[in-house]
Amino acid sequence: MSRTLESGVAPEVLARYEAVIGLEVHAQLKTASKMFCACSTRFGDAPNTNVCPVCLGLPGTLPVINRRAVELGIRASLALGATVQPRSRFARKNYFYPDLPKGYQISMYELPLATGGALEIELDGERKRIGVTRLHLEEDAAKALHEGFLDSDRSTYVDFNRCGTPLVEIVSEPDLRAPAEAQAYLEELKQILEYLDVSDCNMEEGSLRCDANVSVRPRGNGEFGTKTEVKNLNSFRYLAHALEFEIERQIATIEQGGRVTQETRLWNVAAGRTEPMRSKEHAHDYRYFPDPDLLPVEIRAAWQEEIRAAMPELPAARRTRFAEAYGLTPYDARVLTGTRALAEYFEAVVAAGAAAKPAANWIQGELLRRLKETGADQPAARVAPQELADLVGRVEGGEITAAGAKRAFVRMFETGQSAAQVVAAEGLEQMSGTGEIERIAREIIERDPANLAKYRAGNEGVFKFFVGQVMRATRGQANPQQVNETLKRLLAE
Ligand code: ADP
Ligand code: ZN
Ligand code: MG
Repeated sequence: MSRTLESGVAPEVLARYEAVIGLEVHAQLKTASKMFCACSTRFGDAPNTNVCPVCLGLPGTLPVINRRAVELGIRASLALGATVQPRSRFARKNYFYPDLPKGYQISMYELPLATGGALEIELDGERKRIGVTRLHLEEDAAKALHEGFLDSDRSTYVDFNRCGTPLVEIVSEPDLRAPAEAQAYLEELKQILEYLDVSDCNMEEGSLRCDANVSVRPRGNGEFGTKTEVKNLNSFRYLAHALEFEIERQIATIEQGGRVTQETRLWNVAAGRTEPMRSKEHAHDYRYFPDPDLLPVEIRAAWQEEIRAAMPELPAARRTRFAEAYGLTPYDARVLTGTRALAEYFEAVVAAGAAAKPAANWIQGELLRRLKETGADQPAARVAPQELADLVGRVEGGEITAAGAKRAFVRMFETGQSAAQVVAAEGLEQMSGTGEIERIAREIIERDPANLAKYRAGNEGVFKFFVGQVMRATRGQANPQQVNETLKRLLAE
């Protein structure tokens, strides 16, 4: 915790405590339709256009389970090494809120989809296994719109498009011990769900949301302290900040002789603090009971095996393979496998004939920078893999300079032209063969008798000046070694 401590607790006192954190992550499943009806799950449509009697909870309607959502839930479970239960069951979680038209949310309770998995995080080179308690399926609530309307000071509007969207909730064991560990866990989980095509994990659009449970205890103490649950953590930054704040708040409370109250708190982004939302409902307040409208979900082993067989390579396996197969550092392997699209791009560039190391450098440097600047995330749509391979080959073969290739790459990225087209159009072929270089160098020397005289008088520094002049005149395309040799020869004449 590097911030100055608002709570006034001294750092050495903070250090006597240990945090215990468990995350509940909700990921929107990548299905075309909702969990129990045929309405579209598309994001950004006009409010209340993707609705029907089922997701609006009108009387007399019956839900039908989305098979694809179950399949994606199983896929996530298998990836986390969890045991998919042969029989799970949807239950009603009853509570009253305007975003919940039925008066209950269909979720899973005593019979979840899967139990007992784990995920490995790596922090500062150290690996740690974080247990996953359970995964279950549920439907999302609608979205309450508190702002942006002329009468927002006295009205709240509700958009039911999101209502009934399929979610998987993934609950971790209280195995995390620091905000950075929680962040690493969420990053790893996000990457896995993205690789699996289970969720697009778009945090801005709310398709990945995280609630953090946190408590503190004196270091060395076996028992857990009383936890609070912090909601509304829709970015990695908020997760870390909220946890740092909350841990410190709890320690301050205890140090002042108070007790932590079990409650739900909200991360207030503007104020940079957590605030009480409601005291934590006890589970029985939700009056969970099996949904009588839905049959139990029975998952046959054969279906599980089918899903397992169709799973893509997971991020951790791909990182290891990249490091071994391409001789990359663990760091490079991690960056290049950051998204599935990037990893596949790298492999396509190598398959097109580029050497692995320079291909990795180009992708991690120029390509990632351009992608970041333009907000694009599909590299192949900007520069075809075989074109980057072509460019890399030309640099390696000495046909163009590194500086020229960088300029060419920007053009290729912007225009979609091939490496050959750009290199020819911009005249980027490296000048070699002394003819052209000699002509330019001679001209520069003849134009500058003063510096020539200095050089002849023994001022060695002037040599570098002449080299710079030639490189500039050739826009960096001259072979630097040839420039050196040519200048030495001409200046000695
Ligand atoms: P609840 O009944 O309040 O929902 P659960 O036992 O279902 O609590 O746990 C919810 C989440 O809280 C899980 O991610 C779990 O790992 C975490 N958790 C449980 N106890 C603690 C604790 N004392 N401190 C921090 N996290 C905890
Ligand atoms: Zn519907
Ligand atoms: Mg719970």
